Amino acid sequence: MEEYLPDIYQKSIYTINYSKLFNRGIKCLLFDLDNTLVPPYSNELSQKAKNLFISLKQKGFKIIIFTNSPQIRLKGFTKFFEVEGVSSACKPFTRKLRKLLNDYGYGENEVAIIGDQLMTDIKVGNKVGITTILVNPVSNSDFVLTKIHRFSERRKMKKLRDHDLFWQGRYYD
Ligand SMILES: [Mg+2]
Repeated sequence: MEEYLPDIYQKSIYTINYSKLFNRGIKCLLFDLDNTLVPPYSNELSQKAKNLFISLKQKGFKIIIFTNSPQIRLKGFTKFFEVEGVSSACKPFTRKLRKLLNDYGYGENEVAIIGDQLMTDIKVGNKVGITTILVNPVSNSDFVLTKIHRFSERRKMKKLRDHDLFWQGRYYD
């Protein structure tokens, strides 16, 4: 059950205490794309997110968008945000995440993943042992597969709540 428990839970990418992460030794931030940065199906280029990335890069973080969406969807965002990206990440499978850590030479304690889904973002991060940060989805719409994941997610959240480990809307870091 703990494999679904995020280390940190925040309302959005804008409420995360990044200085605290930096002081803990986190050097690289992996951002999920759909429903974390932008709504699914949307090509909206958020200047607010871009500004956040600029300030995070100035702080010294490496920013990588780590998404299950294909490259054709990702590329417009990496270009606009001026960050790197990994597409078709196959979360919650760990192969691409382990490869990323290996390719960039980061240890598990130097990387955090930020996403809106327990079943993909949090699970893959916990399996590999990096810091996991859950945020609320930015929209109510989901891709078809995500809708199925949300089903299981609600069950996991209930189980975590029964053990007093996680309550929706009760943020912590
Ligand atoms: Mg997502």
